[in-house]
Amino acid sequence: MGTRKPIFIDRDGVLNVDVSPYISRSEQLQLFPYTVDSLQKLHDDGFDIYIISNQQGVALGITSEEELEKITETIQSSLRERGFEIKKFFHCTALDSANHPWRKPSPGMILAARDEFGLDLQGSFFIGDKWSDIESGARAGCRPILVLTGVTAPGSWDQWEHKPEKVFPTLKEAVDWIVKNDR
Ligand SMILES: [Mg+2]
Repeated sequence: MGTRKPIFIDRDGVLNVDVSPYISRSEQLQLFPYTVDSLQKLHDDGFDIYIISNQQGVALGITSEEELEKITETIQSSLRERGFEIKKFFHCTALDSANHPWRKPSPGMILAARDEFGLDLQGSFFIGDKWSDIESGARAGCRPILVLTGVTAPGSWDQWEHKPEKVFPTLKEAVDWIVKNDR
């Protein structure tokens, strides 16, 4: 086995339907129909997948660490049936107002993954659905990719300081492009 490549992906609005204000219970988790296939394609192409997710709902009391863990387990079990797993879920459960270094748009969760797993971020991708994902990925030195299955209206990124390298309708098209164009 050669060296596996890291890829960083936001959760809500990328892997699954986002729910306003937050997904609070695991029963609300609704993966997009292409999500498992797309993650498998990345895995089979040599990527180790890290989820990078703000979950302020925990600090707000809307959800809990236990529900977060149930959601993680639900996603992992659907991948385990295919013979792989997401390498690790990073969640920032702090309030936005706490200025936690892990909270996107800060790059802290990506840097924590780098330090924990000894990753080389050079050329790695970050797929997200929000300005804060693109900003976090760019600040960590990743190649930011935007998908439109979440909260971002087409064209609004024209105003952003860091712009997505590519924009795709969904994770499916993003993954198809990445496996053809990485490194
Ligand atoms: Mg999102």
